[in-house]
Amino acid sequence: MRRSFMAAETDLLCCPVCGIRSFARIEEKQWGCGGCGFLYYHNTASAVVAVVEHEGKILVTERKKKPAAGTLDLPGGFVDNRETLEAALVREIREELNLEVTDLKYLCSFPNAYPFGGIRYWTVDAFFTCRPRSVDGIRGRDEIARWFWADIRTMNPDDFGFESIRRGLAFYLRTIRPRNNPEKEDP
Ligand SMILES: [Zn+2]
Repeated sequence: MRRSFMAAETDLLCCPVCGIRSFARIEEKQWGCGGCGFLYYHNTASAVVAVVEHEGKILVTERKKKPAAGTLDLPGGFVDNRETLEAALVREIREELNLEVTDLKYLCSFPNAYPFGGIRYWTVDAFFTCRPRSVDGIRGRDEIARWFWADIRTMNPDDFGFESIRRGLAFYLRTIRPRNNPEKEDP
């Protein structure tokens, strides 16, 4: 049954186990070999995104590398094996920006597609708010073209490159803006 389904696929690849050119997608997440029966599940990866808050602003970066090079982004990245979301977020911000963050609070999550090296990685991006231990010594590394503090009263999620970031940022701004808008506060 698997073999007949795969016969309809046009993009047969060499199986990483037996080497026969009969490795193809079977279902949404499942790839398999019609020769040896090897199955591979291309599962959704965990990723974290930081909303680093400081004096009414949040830390925004500009991507230097593909995918979405030249667009605005929030700091974060993929979760390592055997790592918690919280530890991943602290590690990623330290690696990307030489910044220590604290007071992590889970905010929301949104799915994302991350094309890299010809493969589309599906992620679910978990957003956390957090605060810097110190704003001194921040340095953008590797994949960051520049970084800046953006005023939450004027920033626009549509300026950001990834759909999940736009949605997460919009969620955050809906959550935070009433508290920062004196007109909507109770007397
Ligand atoms: Zn095989």
